[in-house]
Amino acid sequence: MASHIVGYPRMGPKRELKFALESYWDGKSSAEDLQKVAADLRSSIWKQMASAGIKYIPSNTFSYYDQVLDTTAMLGAVPPRYNWTGGEIGFDTYFSMARGNASVPAMEMTKWFDTNYHFIVPELGPDVKFSYSSHKAVHEYKEAKALGIDTVPVFVGPVSYLLLSKPAKGVDKSFSLLSLLDKILPIYQEVVTELKQAGATWVQLDEPLLVMDLDANILKAFTDAYSKLESTLSGLNVIVETYFADITPEAFKTLVSLKGVTGFGFDLVRGSKSLDLIKSGFPKGKYLFAGVVDGRNIWANDLAGSLNTLQALEGIVGKDKLVVSTSCSLLHTAVDLVNETKLDHELKSWFAFAAQKVVEVNALAKALAGQKDEAFFSANAAAQASRKSSPRVTNEAVQKAAAALRGSDHRRATNVSDRLDAQQKKLNLPVLPTTTIGSFPQTIELRRVRREYKANKISEDDYVKAIKEEINKVVKLQEELDVDVLVHGEPERNDMVEYFGEQLSGFAFTVNGWVQSYGSRCVKPPIIFGDVSRPKAMTVFWSSTAQSMTSRPMKGMLTGPVTILNWSFVRNDQPRFETCYQIAMAIKNEVEDLEKAGINVIQIDEAALREGLPLRKSEQAFYLDWAVHSFRITNVGVKDTTQIHTHMCYSNFNDIIQSIIDMDADVITIENSRSDEKLLSVFREGVKYGAGIGPGVYDIHSPRIPSTEEIADRINKMLAVLETNILWVNPDCGLKTRKYTEVKPALQNMVTAAKLLRTKL
Ligand code: GLN
Ligand code: ZN
Repeated sequence: MASHIVGYPRMGPKRELKFALESYWDGKSSAEDLQKVAADLRSSIWKQMASAGIKYIPSNTFSYYDQVLDTTAMLGAVPPRYNWTGGEIGFDTYFSMARGNASVPAMEMTKWFDTNYHFIVPELGPDVKFSYSSHKAVHEYKEAKALGIDTVPVFVGPVSYLLLSKPAKGVDKSFSLLSLLDKILPIYQEVVTELKQAGATWVQLDEPLLVMDLDANILKAFTDAYSKLESTLSGLNVIVETYFADITPEAFKTLVSLKGVTGFGFDLVRGSKSLDLIKSGFPKGKYLFAGVVDGRNIWANDLAGSLNTLQALEGIVGKDKLVVSTSCSLLHTAVDLVNETKLDHELKSWFAFAAQKVVEVNALAKALAGQKDEAFFSANAAAQASRKSSPRVTNEAVQKAAAALRGSDHRRATNVSDRLDAQQKKLNLPVLPTTTIGSFPQTIELRRVRREYKANKISEDDYVKAIKEEINKVVKLQEELDVDVLVHGEPERNDMVEYFGEQLSGFAFTVNGWVQSYGSRCVKPPIIFGDVSRPKAMTVFWSSTAQSMTSRPMKGMLTGPVTILNWSFVRNDQPRFETCYQIAMAIKNEVEDLEKAGINVIQIDEAALREGLPLRKSEQAFYLDWAVHSFRITNVGVKDTTQIHTHMCYSNFNDIIQSIIDMDADVITIENSRSDEKLLSVFREGVKYGAGIGPGVYDIHSPRIPSTEEIADRINKMLAVLETNILWVNPDCGLKTRKYTEVKPALQNMVTAAKLLRTKL
């Protein structure tokens, strides 16, 4: 009975790769230093899997930046602007593509399916000359082999690679990316041939695109591609791996009929329908890589449950053809629980990070082979039972209240135009009102104060005093700049989700539970383990302190339930919507407390609402329904005169515009730095609904200071589409990552532009 791991985190248990990369980029260490850190990480991961007993150990899942970019390098598909002249692609070209350099910008980055991992989007067209230009996969295979470990080299499969690409600049948008298959397959063949010569007996081709809604054309491309690869693949065992969702019956049929393929991998955590498909027919003699250990979460596996599933599968595919695996690469979970020094024993017993998941996979494989580690299984069963019955998990009052919410709809009684009128009487704002999205620059000094307070190095009084001073500074600055609706600047917050999670019950935090987001950037999602409730007010003190410093309206600043949910590791013992409703109730209480404290404008950020959209169309409407409902629950109880803002930082709205309208906020501020016309025309459709709209008038992601003329020009373009009385003027996101030397002149120009246009209306 065999075990397999789809892929493993690269960053290292303490983000060793991050620090090595950043030091190299800063010119503080050499390429050799970086390579040494990387090689050490790879070898320790391989050794760890080998000693755990894993049979199919992946290689080439390490990356200095991103596996899709690695594939681009392998294929030599370097966009011309990087002036690459051929030969093996080195760090300079590779990192220029990833991060840009002094003279050329980086390639575009986008989200990897519905994860928080971002990949570098290949730019392809009819003129790209492909050539085998990175031997990384072969080098890594040999490197492991030299350590005595035979690995399975892993690749982004050819069809998924092309479908994740975009037409390069200047290439017609209608260009068929799949038409390039015949050009890239020969390179896959070269690599595979070289691997065979090096002694490889297995390779893994990841084709996650197969879980999407695909038309017959695309399915045919899979069939064609693998037929063409068949002769090269012969003599080699090939796994085609799918993950992240159920697979459709059509895609399943295509997949299991692919030529030259020995085994198929499925995500059985998110794929209960895939399981049914397998049960209703699996090709004889092929291997099934059964992904029963969740790569997307931090929960310990229910080993007894998985063993049942596996035993049922064994009857279908045969004992020698069933391989226990992870649901997807472990890249999307935290690295090693061993380094969590602050979690108590009970909580720890409920969790499994990547290193622990490797052990789980192997324990399941051994149990199937009749060598069940009874002690390990019974410890697991005890932990599962303690999680089920723990009073830390269950809060019946919260459960009941959340269940009650689900049954009925929640909408503010008055329509948005009438509410805006009522609010205007109270707020008395000029046309084209100016505001910002919440955070102000986080200085080194500010970070130090927060750190020292957390470490009990300064007293609560000193901390409060320091934060008050900071808020006062931010308030005075906004008054000087003559901004209309002020913010307190969020100086007390490190990360917006962490800030709320730390004050809510049902959340736990890790010290080293980092997950790669892109390049060297990692996030440390909170863990929602129990029913969520709010023991006490979270932001009222700071918001009312800030309001007391000014006569202008001060925006209360909250993170919305959907964003808190989507940026956390969420419990798997109840549906996501249930957890979301619970968070919504907690935020609702906070909204109402802010209102009571005299805060008349409250912003509830839903930065990550779009992010949680399921991959499969058939599941999207349901998600949007509960997500939007959760948002409405947070503010359904406020007076007409209380103005609810929401903020979203993405511009890809086209498919969810109706849901945004359904959120029924009074004012929506959105990121708008890239695609003016498209976004605004989308909003014109939605404008009938009448809420205030603040499409960002400048890009805060860049240090560049926009001029008054430029901003005025932008606002004018918006006025051509949106009505004057609904347009707000604001930057496109929070100012946290910028410097005061950038923020002051930029906001100054923004306010001047708004005033200039007011005189012309
Ligand atoms: N209020 C938050 C801020 O300004 C919003 C951040 C976000 O949308 N990601 O920082
Ligand atoms: Zn934003």
